[in-house]
Amino acid sequence: MSKSPELEHPQKAFGWAARDASGVLSPFKFSRRATGDKDVKFRVLYCGICHTDIHNVKNEWGVTKFPVVPGHEIIGEVTEVGSKVEKFKVGDKVGVGCLIWSCGSCDNCHGHDENYCHQMVLTYGGRPYPDGSMTYGGYSNIMVVEECFTLRIPDALPLDAAAPLLCAGITVYSPLKFHGLDRPGVHVGVVGLGGLGHVAVKFAKALGVKVTVISTSPGKREEALKHLGADSFLVSTDMSQIQGALGTMDGIIDTVSAVHSLLPLIGLLKTRGKIIIVGAPDKPLQLPALPIIFGANGIYGSCVGGIKETQEMIDFAAKHNITADIEVIPVDYVNTALERLAKGDVKYRFVIDIRKTLEEA
Ligand SMILES: [Zn+2]
Ligand SMILES: [Zn+2]
Repeated sequence: MSKSPELEHPQKAFGWAARDASGVLSPFKFSRRATGDKDVKFRVLYCGICHTDIHNVKNEWGVTKFPVVPGHEIIGEVTEVGSKVEKFKVGDKVGVGCLIWSCGSCDNCHGHDENYCHQMVLTYGGRPYPDGSMTYGGYSNIMVVEECFTLRIPDALPLDAAAPLLCAGITVYSPLKFHGLDRPGVHVGVVGLGGLGHVAVKFAKALGVKVTVISTSPGKREEALKHLGADSFLVSTDMSQIQGALGTMDGIIDTVSAVHSLLPLIGLLKTRGKIIIVGAPDKPLQLPALPIIFGANGIYGSCVGGIKETQEMIDFAAKHNITADIEVIPVDYVNTALERLAKGDVKYRFVIDIRKTLEEA
């Protein structure tokens, strides 16, 4: 019989876990492995709340193993390093995103695409760590993670508002770079102005790209143009606005996780333009073949990024003052925050201040 989460490993840890598909989080005692030669141990300071956390705690994808401690936008301060750790020392500010292990020997791993390694271990909510133990995320007081999956957080970045970069940031940065949507002269559409969309606009603008926000909410125009600095704004249900922008975009980053029609978006693309899907609707999207054929368009997916690229994204963000717009909350507000996030009632990301709330535990 396997040991209880509390006794499995030598280092006592404390977090907030969902015990069942009600998705309600409550205090949870567990443990972390001893800090190994190549491990970095850190005290968690802040953790962003990603939409994926909701899917996991409510078992909406049917794969959740309870209890689940969510959180994969984690920022902390190093408290211990293993004897073979070279890049980090005690006191350094570090981050951990969506993945904490990959095989290291497949083509994806060799190509710095650890995020696409078929054996990749998620920070929480995926397959077990190679030692067989369950992984627990960042709604917790300490983490122990291999050096090669630990990111350096430059001093220039505020630690709370930088946390969402570790998932939301890299999710939009990676496809902008990979698909060449990262230079002046390029026109990118960003569909949906939420946690992902608002950082997509910031990164695209910093890369010199022309950005059009595409939203179902006319009320977001001011926000998109004035506050986030987008160049233009389209209401996706207003056919006259869509008509006026047909064939103008090199690429579209689609962040919307509600089921929606791709047809009007395909019309916005130039010949050989691309739609990159990073939001995950729970039902299949309709994909009309003829417009794609006539436009020679591509429909792509993209899932976070490799560790090297994630570090590049963080360094770019530090240089260009890019952070998420956040609402910082104490951990005992987390259940309310998850409810509000499910309704889209946050501008734009909740970040849990782990420092105050878990210190005495
Ligand atoms: Zn996420
Ligand atoms: Zn691999």
